[in-house]
Amino acid sequence: MKRAHLRPRAHCHRVASTPFTRALLAWFRRHRRDLPWRRIRTPYTTWISEVMLQQTVVAAVAPRFEAWLKRYPDARSLARAPLEEILRAWEGLGYYSRARNLHAAARLIATNHGGHLPDTLPALRALPGIGEYTAAAILSLAHGLPFPVLDANVKRVTQRLLAEPEWTPAVAIKARTFLEHHLSRRDPGGFNEAMMELGALVCAPRAPRCAECPVSSSCRGHELGIAALIPERRRRPVTTVMTTVIIAIHRTRVWLVESSHANRLPGPATTKPTPGSSFLQGLSAFPRLPAVTAAIATKVPDGFPLEPVTHSYLNMRETLRPILVRVPTSAAVTRTAGRWVPIAELEHFPMPSAYRRIARSILGLDTRSRAF
Ligand code: SF4
Repeated sequence: MKRAHLRPRAHCHRVASTPFTRALLAWFRRHRRDLPWRRIRTPYTTWISEVMLQQTVVAAVAPRFEAWLKRYPDARSLARAPLEEILRAWEGLGYYSRARNLHAAARLIATNHGGHLPDTLPALRALPGIGEYTAAAILSLAHGLPFPVLDANVKRVTQRLLAEPEWTPAVAIKARTFLEHHLSRRDPGGFNEAMMELGALVCAPRAPRCAECPVSSSCRGHELGIAALIPERRRRPVTTVMTTVIIAIHRTRVWLVESSHANRLPGPATTKPTPGSSFLQGLSAFPRLPAVTAAIATKVPDGFPLEPVTHSYLNMRETLRPILVRVPTSAAVTRTAGRWVPIAELEHFPMPSAYRRIARSILGLDTRSRAF
């Protein structure tokens, strides 16, 4: 194996250990949280935990990570599982492209790497869903190689240490140089984890607790009294949307569509999913009002309303209003593809969490009620 490209650019310029690094690692030894992925540190567990943690909070990931490892203890078992099963196991973690990428990458790892994650930057980066940050985490945390990790926490901490309010390409270079200078030679993974932990526990997004910080004497943002103002926040307006979701029931079956079709933003109905909606591909959902046929649409005013469900996505807050509509014949409900499935089997279909909550409310209905 060629190790030359394992070395980050500025590695050779680092000193043995800086006061910053010693203070940070001493603090980490005392305050590190006992998290499941820290107990079993392998390239595979590091990969899974880092991908789960990308857009999900630690408290939500911890139980899911343990359940995932029981079900898929290694890349080979993940590669063997059908995608639909993996999407179902991922439910509730959101951003399903991550689960699809895990599956695709596991198949490549099984086929091309004998079931083991590769240990070079180019080979890791060639796998679906593994970007620079995840590759650096795997190489440093699981292999002890000197790659600094720049996740959201580390970016914020470094910006404050350097007193740089805005993240620009020039600041990114400064931040990387700073991290490479201080990265522990003996324990690069521990250094990266300590930086991430500092961002999670002390240098918090809204209110940094500088009085408790082990590296405050090296922090330019703290020295200038501007730490809490970094990074500069630009508020994006939140759009609120109300959407009617049709629960079409024929006897004991319900109409399901692929989520990318159901999940169109409100607007004129078309026969194609909206651009970018393929990130929900492979998931099932109930159709939204514009997509149903005219015959079904006329029944909506007399339908049975279920509890609304609100969810947020980026800067959109959407309330789904499910209306249960009885359909006398088993004809198609939507103008796009869909299928009738037994209500009792809804649990087996992977769905975005907002739709899962609606599915659970359907399963909880008394079948002798007015709804049916
Ligand atoms: Fe963050 Fe304050 Fe520590 Fe600077 S001194 S790194 S702003 S917690």
